[in-house]
Amino acid sequence: MICSRCGLCCINLDILVIKTRSIRPDGTLDPGDPESMIRKPAGERCPHLAFAGEVAICAIHDLPCYRGTPCDLFDQFGPEDGICILGSYFKSSGSAEL
Ligand code: SF4
Ligand code: SF4
Repeated sequence: MICSRCGLCCINLDILVIKTRSIRPDGTLDPGDPESMIRKPAGERCPHLAFAGEVAICAIHDLPCYRGTPCDLFDQFGPEDGICILGSYFKSSGSAEL
């Protein structure tokens, strides 16, 4: 799936994300920490979402702790090289904007 970096999924999805305070200096999580994931409700901006102009940036995307998270595993039906349709859906449905 090709992401256009609109950032709308990071606002409009109800999803589990990593708690900022649980990230260790080396970018990993303590595997014994039962509260390292928090629920990010739909319509609420993820604490890790930033923007460079209009381009969405996930502040933890390149950290080891990001691997295997619901965001990392997120994909959509369709061809691997298909453009993400979720952003268009959020825009057309009047979901929360930036
Ligand atoms: S963790 Fe990153 S990819 Fe996941 S919702 Fe937050 S900003 Fe978006
Ligand atoms: S809605 Fe789609 S295009 Fe927009 S940031 Fe999320 S994955 Fe990327």
